[in-house]
Amino acid sequence: MLHIPTLLLALLLGFLLLTLELGVSQRGLQARPEIRRWTMGSWALLGGFAALAARALVPVELSILLGNALICLGLAVYVQAIHQLLLSAPAPRWLMQCQPLLWLALALMLDWPLHRRTALLSLVYVVLLAPSVWVILRHGWHAERSLRTVALTMAMAIVALLVRALHAWLTPGDYVDLMQASLGQGLTFLFAFMCLLGAGFGFVLAVFERVARQMEEVATHDGLTGCWNRSTTDALLEHELQRSRRSGAPVAFVLLDLDHFKQVNDLHGHRAGDAVLKAFADTVRARLRASDVFGRTGGEEFGLVLPGTDLAGARWLVETVRREVETLALTDADSRPMAVTVSAGIAMADGGTPLSGDRLYGQADQALYEAKRSGRNRVEAFGAGNGASAALPLA
Ligand code: GH3
Ligand code: MG
Ligand code: MG
Repeated sequence: MLHIPTLLLALLLGFLLLTLELGVSQRGLQARPEIRRWTMGSWALLGGFAALAARALVPVELSILLGNALICLGLAVYVQAIHQLLLSAPAPRWLMQCQPLLWLALALMLDWPLHRRTALLSLVYVVLLAPSVWVILRHGWHAERSLRTVALTMAMAIVALLVRALHAWLTPGDYVDLMQASLGQGLTFLFAFMCLLGAGFGFVLAVFERVARQMEEVATHDGLTGCWNRSTTDALLEHELQRSRRSGAPVAFVLLDLDHFKQVNDLHGHRAGDAVLKAFADTVRARLRASDVFGRTGGEEFGLVLPGTDLAGARWLVETVRREVETLALTDADSRPMAVTVSAGIAMADGGTPLSGDRLYGQADQALYEAKRSGRNRVEAFGAGNGASAALPLA
């Protein structure tokens, strides 16, 4: 049989270490509200278990009231932390609203025999743990993988508590004293300890997973349009060119540049210009395959890497985009219409002739220049004529 005082001591030390480490880590890093909340929940649980353990030193009524009230509070705060991480929304209000009622119920239960109180409180803990598991299963299972450990250890704690509730109800003799070794007490303290480790570290890791993902997003994407940024587009273009050298499949590279965009800003303001850039990016994105790369290479200039696409395919796609952009019905804040068109230059790598990304970029830029020179709102391809770019017949 498991030695309850040892388990309780391990639990106290574990919670103390976790809360101290969380507190210290929050000082160095930009504070994350979810971690701050988890730390608060852990302090409440630490206080709760400490109050239960101090039964020999303080009046037993105080130990029961304070211990269980703080544990209930800590579990509710954990639910809040998980909600904050996964939904950026507050947890259901009943979790906090029911706390005073729980304290009142605890006070009324003070003269109950331990086995009845244990059975009922185990069920209360189940009710307070269940929302954490539920919200992770619904919203977090495919988000941050570390949250799975949180859900699993909490689910195991729920099972242990249910076993304890049943066991306490059926075998009152095993629940005369809190520190008495029994199946239910042993399982519960053991799983409380596992929950402290699994859920605590799982939650912290999940927050760091989230931070790492956000940093990766910022480092590789353009914040306004959601496109890849310039350096990532360059890297993805090189990658596709290498693949095409091995497979022999063609790769098309397209530069798209909004026409007279400076005038859009001058006429309608910079914010309206930003909205045009977003609308343009959405229009292009809606036409792409999952394997296509769409990057913002400069202010109002965008690059498209189209793997496995020949010139005819690329021209069809870009011409479709050009027509759709031309017909976009955009208005500014004063409901004035904003006309927008785009010019594009296409360059091809056919796999047979090795071309660097820089060369291909330069060729697409030349074709784009030709499109601008020929009057804008056009698509040109590099080398469609005799080495220089030439106009493509528009479909
Ligand atoms: P062209 O047809 O020759 O491409 O003319 P243009 O006016 O589009 O080209 P130009 O290079 O003269 O001006 C580009 C403009 O794009 C100037 C700049 O203020 C604007 N721009 C660049 N980035 C942003 C942005 O993020 N938001 C907004 N609103 N405007 C931007
Ligand atoms: Mg432009
Ligand atoms: Mg430009």
